[in-house]
Amino acid sequence: MDDRDVQMTMAAAGYYNGGIDGIIGPKSWAAVAGIETEFKNRYRFDPAGSYENRRLVAALQACLNKLGFEPGTIDGWVGPNTEEALNAFLFKKTTGRDEVIPRERVSGAPGGAAIPKQSEVAAVYGRPGAEVERRLKTIELPFSLRIDWNLRQTARRIRVHEEAADQLKAALVAVRDHYGPARMNELGIDRYAGCYNHRKIRGGTSWSMHAYGCAIDFYAAPNGLRTRCPDALFCKPDYTDFLDIMEAHEWLPAIRLWGADAMHFQRARLD
Ligand SMILES: [Zn+2]
Repeated sequence: MDDRDVQMTMAAAGYYNGGIDGIIGPKSWAAVAGIETEFKNRYRFDPAGSYENRRLVAALQACLNKLGFEPGTIDGWVGPNTEEALNAFLFKKTTGRDEVIPRERVSGAPGGAAIPKQSEVAAVYGRPGAEVERRLKTIELPFSLRIDWNLRQTARRIRVHEEAADQLKAALVAVRDHYGPARMNELGIDRYAGCYNHRKIRGGTSWSMHAYGCAIDFYAAPNGLRTRCPDALFCKPDYTDFLDIMEAHEWLPAIRLWGADAMHFQRARLD
């Protein structure tokens, strides 16, 4: 994300009519201030006195949100949701159409009768929105995960669907017992990149598994939505046990389901 992206999204959302030159001058700041005033109830931090870059990121998130690209929380941090919302916006702006991201089943994709099929998730987990939210459970971890896009911040609690929560907690405890905290840190397995999120699937129109509370992401940047083996970091041998442990606890790695999006694990199998 750079300053041109901020200007472009602010212009597309109708807050800015200066140059798309990457120079954040008085016109850009006036637009940012206007956005902060209009959306202050949705900001998850106080932009007054914040770092300039965080205010710019938040303005971009507010604009992407208004334009319907689902960047997640307006928090001023560039995480995978912000990155992907921006990618979707730029694709549409450049080509005039929505990007379609294919997700074709890998042969030998894992499953298991206890795990709901993707086509059954609404019956098992509920309809996205209030129905799913009522059934979210907070799991407490006996150790901390780092927030992938803001590594000084940590999380010990994750909100996940009650039908998938025990399996996830058991999986993460088993991962920690296997690797230990130092090795997890070194490999980036402790970089938590999001779980429950009420949004549509990237490059598609159906609900994301995240909207059912049955998906979690780790270490997004080297395990991107479009990155396949052997380029994705989690394809490397050091991570095989991590994937095996998650899979053994019914949290299936996307890289073994549709061969990309290695950051993503879900308690749902392909149809
Ligand atoms: Zn995901």
